[in-house]
Amino acid sequence: MATVTLDNLRKEFDNGRIVAVDDISLDVADGEFVTVVGPSGCGKSTTLRMIAGLESPTSGSIHFGDEDVTDVHARKRDVAMVFQNYALYPHKTVEQNMAFGLRMSTDLSKEERRERVRETAEMMGIENLLDDRPDELSGGQKQRVALGRAIVREPDVFLFDEPLSNLDAKLRTTMRTEIQRLQNELGITAIYVTHDQEEAMTMGDRIAILNGGELQQVGAPKEVYNDPTNAFVGGFVGSPSMNFLDVSVDRRGDDVHLVTDDGTVDYVLSGDIAARVRDADGTEFNLGIRPEDVGVVESGRNTVRTTVGVVEPIGSDNYLHLDIGPDFIARVDSDIEPDTGDVIHVTFDQSDLHLFDGDTGESVL
Ligand code: ATP
Repeated sequence: MATVTLDNLRKEFDNGRIVAVDDISLDVADGEFVTVVGPSGCGKSTTLRMIAGLESPTSGSIHFGDEDVTDVHARKRDVAMVFQNYALYPHKTVEQNMAFGLRMSTDLSKEERRERVRETAEMMGIENLLDDRPDELSGGQKQRVALGRAIVREPDVFLFDEPLSNLDAKLRTTMRTEIQRLQNELGITAIYVTHDQEEAMTMGDRIAILNGGELQQVGAPKEVYNDPTNAFVGGFVGSPSMNFLDVSVDRRGDDVHLVTDDGTVDYVLSGDIAARVRDADGTEFNLGIRPEDVGVVESGRNTVRTTVGVVEPIGSDNYLHLDIGPDFIARVDSDIEPDTGDVIHVTFDQSDLHLFDGDTGESVL
């Protein structure tokens, strides 16, 4: 079973002055595709490098199935890693590049190795490139070869470190689908590091979000999108980003209001949600509203009066920049096209609201 289990995995550099990975625990199931995402410096690569055996943990453990591989040498681990910069040998042909890993990790005969390389090259659509050297290939072709070289070894675990970052947007989308197809067909457990939340969301069965070396949340893409555990995850996942407003909770009489300092927003909660917010500790909160959850309406109950700033058409939708708060964006249908300077009213459904503790950032709804 190619499960991967990280247990309180920690990596310090500089005698503990840098904590790159801060006690991360994560279970990756056999055949699962987990994407690891977070901003630059959050510890993604270090985590992956420890799983590959290229970096040794300061503490904690790594298991592949039942086997503790924490102290097992990289070459003895049944993993293949695909890097951003392809890491192909420049003086070897594509065929030799692909065969090299096989020679190091298996005892197949030369003929068997040749056969396996050819089969894999066909699967990857690169059989016509086998005699070429890397400098004769485009970026996309190089990445296909790098993938082929990883696949040909039939590893139990696939590790990807930002493999598509050097490719243009269109090719990146094609390669995403390709990698998913291959992973699915081969049933290989995959851990895929990226800083691109969209890539993480579209590719992963589950997505693990890191910040400052700490694991913030792990879950299916829909789950982390709909129920972010804290304001960081809420803001990191989704595009354009979640809008945030500092609000206080006013528990007047029977009603529970969310109110911004300047009074622009005074939103009355009702029912179950009102009861939960009434019971929450504290008075200062961070209200999160996704751009796609903002609707343009006639003035009325729970609406906010606002002036339209820039209008950005993106084809199917328009992004309206509104003066409700800093960088506040509404994503609306393209047939809603107010002019800059127009005064409009918007609203949001209370079931779409996210509320985070003003101090800790933890979700309270
Ligand atoms: P990026 O997306 O920019 O590649 P990352 O999320 O992959 O970032 P890491 O490369 O894992 O982040 O780095 C995590 C932290 O550890 C950073 O603060 C980095 O500077 C530090 N770090 C990584 N490797 C070393 C090292 N060999 N020596 C000292 N510090 C290191």
